[in-house]
Amino acid sequence: MRLQADVVVVGFGAAGACAALEAAETGSDVILLDRFGGGGATALSGGVVYAGGGTRQQREAGVADSADAMYAYLRTEVGDAVSHKTLRDFCDSSVEMMEWLETQGVPFSAALCPDKTSYPTNRHYLYYSGSELAAREVAPPAPRGHRTHGPGTSGRLFYQRLADAVRARGIRVLPQTTAVSLISEEDGRVTGVECRQLHSRLHLWLTRLAAKPYLYVPKLGRLLHKPVAWLEKRYSRPITIVARQGVILAAGGFVNNRNMMRRHAPACRGGLPLGTPADDGSGITLGTTAGAATAHLDRVSVWRFITPPSALLKGILVDRAGRRVCDESLYGAAIGSAIVSKHDGEAWLLVDSKVLQEARQQLRSQTLWFQRIQMWYLLSRDRIQAATLRELAARARIDAETLAATLDTYNTAPVDPMGKDQAFAQPLVQPPFSLIDCSIRPRPAYPAPMLTLGGLVVSEESGQVLRPDGTPIAGLYAAGRTAVGICSNSYLSGLSLADCVYSGRRAGRHAGGASE
Ligand SMILES: Cc1cc2nc3c(=O)[nH]c(=O)nc-3n(C[C@H](O)[C@H](O)[C@H](O)COP(=O)(O)OP(=O)(O)OC[C@H]3O[C@@H](n4cnc5c(N)ncnc54)[C@H](O)[C@@H]3O)c2cc1C
Repeated sequence: MRLQADVVVVGFGAAGACAALEAAETGSDVILLDRFGGGGATALSGGVVYAGGGTRQQREAGVADSADAMYAYLRTEVGDAVSHKTLRDFCDSSVEMMEWLETQGVPFSAALCPDKTSYPTNRHYLYYSGSELAAREVAPPAPRGHRTHGPGTSGRLFYQRLADAVRARGIRVLPQTTAVSLISEEDGRVTGVECRQLHSRLHLWLTRLAAKPYLYVPKLGRLLHKPVAWLEKRYSRPITIVARQGVILAAGGFVNNRNMMRRHAPACRGGLPLGTPADDGSGITLGTTAGAATAHLDRVSVWRFITPPSALLKGILVDRAGRRVCDESLYGAAIGSAIVSKHDGEAWLLVDSKVLQEARQQLRSQTLWFQRIQMWYLLSRDRIQAATLRELAARARIDAETLAATLDTYNTAPVDPMGKDQAFAQPLVQPPFSLIDCSIRPRPAYPAPMLTLGGLVVSEESGQVLRPDGTPIAGLYAAGRTAVGICSNSYLSGLSLADCVYSGRRAGRHAGGASE
């Protein structure tokens, strides 16, 4: 079977949907294909989009923000992942991006969260989703995490509204269609995709059934996924899709490709892969087979959230040597990165009885159900307690002398040596003391979720995929977690989806405009 379109988009998650919408906007005929039914990691996500510079939601909530402040803060996180010019453009166009998403039907709200949290409750939708408060010397902080306005984890609604917009635009969607190789001309120009397609309700049903277990109980998920892969192998048929103008790879990352993870991020073996079975690096491999360069494949965001409840920010995070790990009010990905890269994946949160009591009182009001389960597990099963610090250190096999010195410095220093805001830096003096295990290792109730940030190197002007020598591969584009983007150095909640929208729209506009 053979189909034709101007633009072919591989992958129907956030990046693919945005790419398809913008390509269609240029008047191009677009085909959007997906190995499963669409949604990808996007539909499983929290639906948080990082945006600022005075969005409608920020203004309605009375939050002062500017593109300059957003840029100054993000510069410290983004590093060399993208150029100054691109980051500047990302910040300058942030308000417009939110308006565009709202025009596509994605709802947001100005309900401001009063607490520092990893994910706000169903009463709050605008919050500090990064380390802005800890970086207040760099830029005036502002809450920029815009959670899609819907209960539970809002990613499903975020995706659903984009998918509705895609269908309303008349874009042809091919579910159960896997891109297996690119079609290239002799001069290297990419002119289409060879795919395998099947039509099976059972395949779709099993895919949906396996999605959540795959995320939260990986062993069960992998078991449920086996018949899905078997159905694909047994019943799929070849299909050729010709792209007159361009192919856009938006097929997610590689967190579920064990070989790639072992090769590029061996230190992250204790983390919980955040993604679908299709986060197997196939989009990246399609690109490299066509001669593309990759970058930042070693950048994997490992999350270790110690809030909610927010009282736990008053504790101090220590390693096995008894040394302080970092400012505890940093964003969970920054804490995870510090634990993995500098402390052998091991860390404990030291709290006194006053902090513990306050944290327990906050549990009900500050947590969603899944956070409550995690904290219950952590505060009961993974906590050890002792009347003295020495006894506590001995039980956890942590260096007692250094731990005592670390606590003494924390309790007596006029300003926290790690730079933690004074509001959280209160002395820990009330016995009994507790150590809560925050180490990165496989644990069913307190996993350390992780996602990959690197991918194919693209032109920051157009999203066109580049070769190692910097020349573009004609007809080939990439976006979202298949490509290097704004979040490829460091992730903050909302920065991946924001980058998917930004890079997806850019690739769609340029691939669509290529015929003009
Ligand atoms: C539980 C969870 C919570 C998260 N919360 C947030 C959050 O709140 N904010 C945030 O910014 N980020 C969040 N993330 C990360 C974010 O969701 C992802 O990084 C982002 O959605 C990636 O989007 P994408 O479009 O690149 O890929 P995806 O959304 O994964 O879409 C890729 C699509 O490509 C398809 N595909 C793959 N290979 C092929 C192939 N060979 N042929 C055809 N189709 C293929 C897949 O089936 C999939 O549908 C979260 C992730 C998870 C799992």
